[in-house]
Amino acid sequence: MIVKAIQGYLSAALLTASVATVAAPISPADYQRVVDEAYAQFKDEKGGANADYIPILATVPSEMFGVVIITRDGEVYSAGELDYEFSIQSVSKPFTASLIMQQQGPRAVREKIGVEPTGMAFNSKMALEIYEGRSVNPLVNAGAIAAVSLVEASSEKDRWQQVLSNIEDYTARDLTVLEEVYDSEYETAWGNRAIANLLFNYGRLYSEPEEALRVYTRQCSIGINTLDLAMMGATLANEGVNPKTGKRVLDREHVPELLAIMATAGFYDESGEWMYSAGLPAKTGVGGGIVAVVPGKFAIATFSPPLNPAGNSVRGLKAIGYISSTLGVGLYGPNAGE
Ligand code: GLN
Repeated sequence: MIVKAIQGYLSAALLTASVATVAAPISPADYQRVVDEAYAQFKDEKGGANADYIPILATVPSEMFGVVIITRDGEVYSAGELDYEFSIQSVSKPFTASLIMQQQGPRAVREKIGVEPTGMAFNSKMALEIYEGRSVNPLVNAGAIAAVSLVEASSEKDRWQQVLSNIEDYTARDLTVLEEVYDSEYETAWGNRAIANLLFNYGRLYSEPEEALRVYTRQCSIGINTLDLAMMGATLANEGVNPKTGKRVLDREHVPELLAIMATAGFYDESGEWMYSAGLPAKTGVGGGIVAVVPGKFAIATFSPPLNPAGNSVRGLKAIGYISSTLGVGLYGPNAGE
């Protein structure tokens, strides 16, 4: 009798222990603690340099650093720089890909753009030449310019309005273009112009090339802050519904495909390294933003301008790696974060 009772007690205790380690809920205090720790630990990190191939980005103060978590319920945890509006740059790319998924379905993204990682730099012209799909995936410049060209639009103005209002649906806030960034990038956009023209030449661009280039460059010049970026990610964490407005922005069944592209190509030729260390779908931009998504739970956003050679924010990738490993939320199990 007594032995049975002890056995019963032990197995109940073991069950509780194993459930607790598998699915311990993350408390508000835990979220705030990891955000504060990530900020404190990496704010003095000196590695990397601002992007300067878009001349104005070199003038953004390098020391700014913000870290934000927003949960799928819209709870906000933050530290550091929250208000400064930086250019969204390539973090915009998966969100415009999501607009194409909404309009034409994930098959169109696969067939008209592609979903393979290139293993090459985000602005590679060689990738475009050696891969038969040309645009390769929507998170490199070629695929992102192709995505803009696929928006079902009646005019350039309409194309731009759709791109902007889709991103505003993700941020739950009206946004404006940082015109100085736009001018600085458009005046020097010879590489992206070459990409747009090559895509058109190969039949892989679906609007007039200069129009696609202008709308793509405006998209990259949208001003956002760290909170906006976290809200964009939280909408994906919340299966496509913006936690603040309750508006569905992306159909639930398309969210996994979008996150899959972010997991395999969000850090360009550093995507393998990123998944190895942090284990989360994410997207970076040369303005210094990164957003990572813990599916069904929350998003982590960071802003810090200095970039590593692959164009990814140094403080940001360390902060998100730290949060992912400390909370044990890597997609395939807790990652080391190193
Ligand atoms: N607008 C930038 C470009 O086209 C975006 C690049 C990036 O953020 N990686 O080069």
